[in-house]
Amino acid sequence: MTAPSLHHSPATRSSLLQTALPLVISLALAACTSVPLPPWPAPGAAKVSPVPGPVPVPATVAPPVVTIQPVPVRPAVVVAPVAQAPYSAAVAARFPAPALIYSTPGLQEGRSSFTSNAEIQTWLRDQASAAAATPGMKAALLTIGQSQRGEALEALVLTRAAGTDAAALAASGRPTVLLIGQQHGDEPAGSEALLVVARELTQGLLRPVLDRVNVIIVPRANPDGSADNRRVTTGGLDMNRDHLLLNTPEARALAKLTRDYHPTVVVDAHEYTVVGRFLQKFDAVQKYDALLQYATTANIPEFLTKASEEWYRRPLIAALKAQGLSSEWYYTTSTDLLDKKISMGGTQPDTGRNVNGLKNTVSLLIETRGVGIGRLHIQRRVFTHVTAISSVLASTAQRASELGQLQPYIEKEIASQACKDEAVVEAGPTLTQQELLMLDPVTGADKALRVEWNSALTLRKLKTRVRPCGYWLSASSKTAVERLRLHGVQVLRVTEPGSMLGDLYRETARAAGVRQDVRGAIADAGQIVKTEVALVRGVIDAPTGSYYVPLSQPLANLVIAALEPDTQSSFFANQLIETLAGSARVMSEPALKTEELP
Ligand SMILES: [Zn+2]
Repeated sequence: MTAPSLHHSPATRSSLLQTALPLVISLALAACTSVPLPPWPAPGAAKVSPVPGPVPVPATVAPPVVTIQPVPVRPAVVVAPVAQAPYSAAVAARFPAPALIYSTPGLQEGRSSFTSNAEIQTWLRDQASAAAATPGMKAALLTIGQSQRGEALEALVLTRAAGTDAAALAASGRPTVLLIGQQHGDEPAGSEALLVVARELTQGLLRPVLDRVNVIIVPRANPDGSADNRRVTTGGLDMNRDHLLLNTPEARALAKLTRDYHPTVVVDAHEYTVVGRFLQKFDAVQKYDALLQYATTANIPEFLTKASEEWYRRPLIAALKAQGLSSEWYYTTSTDLLDKKISMGGTQPDTGRNVNGLKNTVSLLIETRGVGIGRLHIQRRVFTHVTAISSVLASTAQRASELGQLQPYIEKEIASQACKDEAVVEAGPTLTQQELLMLDPVTGADKALRVEWNSALTLRKLKTRVRPCGYWLSASSKTAVERLRLHGVQVLRVTEPGSMLGDLYRETARAAGVRQDVRGAIADAGQIVKTEVALVRGVIDAPTGSYYVPLSQPLANLVIAALEPDTQSSFFANQLIETLAGSARVMSEPALKTEELP
């Protein structure tokens, strides 16, 4: 089957060009490095190469071999009032069934439960077998860990590389996309959609994607939460606030997978609250089929943000729109009913979205309207995810060669900043006002609201410091070292006593507290140590067995997020490092005898 061309609509093309990075900046940046810069689309030269189109196709296109059962577009609007619908039939009528109806175990007519963990395992095995039977296609089903209740955490690797191991994927020269579903157990549409995407890649319309892209799918990152229809993991922790600390085995499994396979793009598929506190605060129902956001935390390289915006978010919005699906930036609101602020996704380096950005990936959060409405509109929610994810895959295929340059460029740039430049230790959103559309809960009509809007797109620098050359960690920092290495951070062990110039942390204030996100206190994250520090220049004595973490490495920005102690997300605040004396900023290139850890 030949790959259809993807054509930008004139509107998309012009908006792409309007904000294309000025060529002069590209050239200035390019002068700093020997790595060629990703060629940004220059005015009048938007490159449109043939790429596989997204899955949702007009009903006139013949269906492929097995998959999607294209059900004729349903006549008019069938609003079958669902039992215990959380809103009126008029609101429900705003969300008609999509053009394509998908079939997974959990989407069968008459089912009351979503696809079970056992059914997902069977499904993934079936897709792996189908891929293995396809000439040139390879598949591997990896067990990447176990949930807290012992469920296998599985990842399906699909590729046309010579093998399915990390080295083979790297050698393929193709970008790898990691797709993650259902970190929150009560957000099922992402998981069902990833089952559809897996089938489309192995047997359906997305097969041509694999000519240019490797794909890894983790359809259900939190199987225990899913079985309980609960947001958090079994232990009560919100795993999507655990991607820096790695206290849960679920988050550790994803970190290790990301470290080993080094994806270029990571998609995190979620669902958001439709009624609940929005209805209580604003007397309104949520309107948008999809809410979208990329990484917005301190120290994300500008080029990565540009690529996320121009190569991914804009085409994604256009792809959704072409299917009659609406979208907006991701936003949420506090669980405190008196607080009517609306906030975009947070700026803390703790979510998958932000931590994967700190790992220099294009990191995209896609949320469908689904929390709290059970199975209502489930086909439309799944269709929205499949459309969005297909767009991400198509963008990756289209930009494969530029992406191949982008990540090495960014990584070299970050490593070169050690010992100089500024590091933002903490950043926060900017409070603005915005008009937002919601729906009247009775009539279903659009309801425009003027809201206070915490924008994560304009980050305020709350705390900055000179970027150190690296960090020294005491010999008792075993847990911190283990977590850093799970992220892929290079940590060196000191083999002979040495000393170096550095900044020690002196505590000036301390309080107990809890970690907060834009919703409120983070589920079960426990008490943190909120410290304030002054830096004291001095000599650091580094005994044998202590550690040195150089910042001249690609994950330097993640290291800063973990090791500067006076932030709520840091290893110190969360007691992965026990004392302030257990770490220090190394301010000149140390002459230490060190060894790589085994
Ligand atoms: Zn979620």
